[in-house]
Amino acid sequence: MEKTPEEIVEEMQAVAKQMVLDDLEENPDLEYEFFDCACCGKSKSYAGSIKYGEHRLCNDCVLLAETGFALKKFDNVQKLIDAMEDNRLEEICNFIRTEQAKKDN
Ligand SMILES: [Zn+2]
Repeated sequence: MEKTPEEIVEEMQAVAKQMVLDDLEENPDLEYEFFDCACCGKSKSYAGSIKYGEHRLCNDCVLLAETGFALKKFDNVQKLIDAMEDNRLEEICNFIRTEQAKKDN
């Protein structure tokens, strides 16, 4: 059976969260080590980040990237980075935030 977008988002949120936990388990200091995310441009913790080719993405952007891949919104990280630049991804970002908000309630 095909997964619904909601299910995919939920699954990806769990995966992204687990990556942070795994990284911190391996090296707790990572939480306090920062880099400039290639995607959102913010200074972010290494914990849960992933390097896609040349670009290291923070955990938040990894979630966007993986969700975007799973939903077939784009097929490589460069497209996500380009899209972030012109805010074309606003829609999918909002979708994820909405799902997150629902869960937190
Ligand atoms: Zn980022």
